[in-house]
Amino acid sequence: MRYVYGPVPSRRLGKSFGVSPIPPKTCSYSCVYCQLGRTNRFQIKREDFYPKEEIFKEIEKVMKTTKPDYITFAGDGEPTLCKSLGWLVNKCKKKFSTPVAVITNSSLLFMPDVRKDLSYADVVLPSLDAGNESIFKKINRPYKGISFEEMVNGIIKLRNEYKGEIWMETMLVKNVNDSDKALIEIKKCLEKINPDQVYINVPIRPPAESWALPPSPERIVAAHQIIGQIKEITEIEVGDFGLSEFKSAEEAILKISQRHPLREEQAKGVEKHFRANVIESLISSGKIVRVEYRNKKFLVVNR
Ligand code: SF4
Repeated sequence: MRYVYGPVPSRRLGKSFGVSPIPPKTCSYSCVYCQLGRTNRFQIKREDFYPKEEIFKEIEKVMKTTKPDYITFAGDGEPTLCKSLGWLVNKCKKKFSTPVAVITNSSLLFMPDVRKDLSYADVVLPSLDAGNESIFKKINRPYKGISFEEMVNGIIKLRNEYKGEIWMETMLVKNVNDSDKALIEIKKCLEKINPDQVYINVPIRPPAESWALPPSPERIVAAHQIIGQIKEITEIEVGDFGLSEFKSAEEAILKISQRHPLREEQAKGVEKHFRANVIESLISSGKIVRVEYRNKKFLVVNR
C-alpha cells in the first residue's frame, strides 16, 4: 500500500486509518518539532501528486477488512497540498459510514478552494502554535510569503463557513511559545477562532531540531491556567498498529516508521506478530536508526 497506513492508535481520533495523498515530507512548513525531520519538499502550490482514483482504490481495499474510528487525511506533510483532497474526502463520505477527519497545519486555509475541500469532512484538526508573527516564523518556519495574519484569518474563515467540528492543536515547545506572554497571545487568537475543542501537545518523539523540547510541567500547568478549557495530549498514545496490510515485519517497521517514529517496544510487538527478528538487521543495514529521546528508544527511517 502506497497511500494508506494503519489503522494507528491516535490520541485524539482513537483507531485512525491514515491516508497520505502527498509524497514524503511535502509541506508548507518546516516545524522545529516535526517528527519527520526537516521539510525536503517545501511548497505552497497545490498539486495532484498521484492519480486520485489510485488513492481511493487503496482506501476501498483496506476499508473492506477494517473498521476504524476515523478515516484520517494526514500523512507525511500537509494534506491540503493535494488538489484532489475534496474529491477524496467526498468519495469517502459517500461510500463509507466512518467519519472523516483532516489534520492540517492551517497554512492554506486562506484559500477558498481548500476550505471548500474541507467542508466535506466531519472534523478538521488545524494547528496554531503561535500568537504572533515572530513566534510563528520561529516554530513553524513557513514557506516564504505565508503570513501569520493570513494564516489565522484562514482559520477564522473556516470557522465561519464550516458546519463540522474544529479541534485546534497547539504544540508547546520549551522557551519558544510557553511563556505567559506567548500563551496569552495564543489564547487571544483561539478566542477569535472559537473552535469546538483545543488540545495542547508537546514533542514526544524525536524532533527535527534537537533543541525543540517539551516545556516543564509548570509551564503546561500555566497553559491550562491561561488558555483554559484545553485537553492535554502530552502522553504517548497506546494501542496496536494495524498490521494486516503488511507481508513482513521488515515492511511493517519500515512503512510505519516512515510516517510515525516507532518506539522500540512497539517495533518489538511487530516482530512478535510476524515471529521474526529484524530490528537489528535493519539498523546494521542503515535502513533505520535508533534514537534516544526523553529516556525512550525510537526507531526512525534513515533519510
Ligand atoms: S509538523 Fe506537520 S506542518 Fe510541521 S513540518 Fe511536520 S508535517 Fe509539516
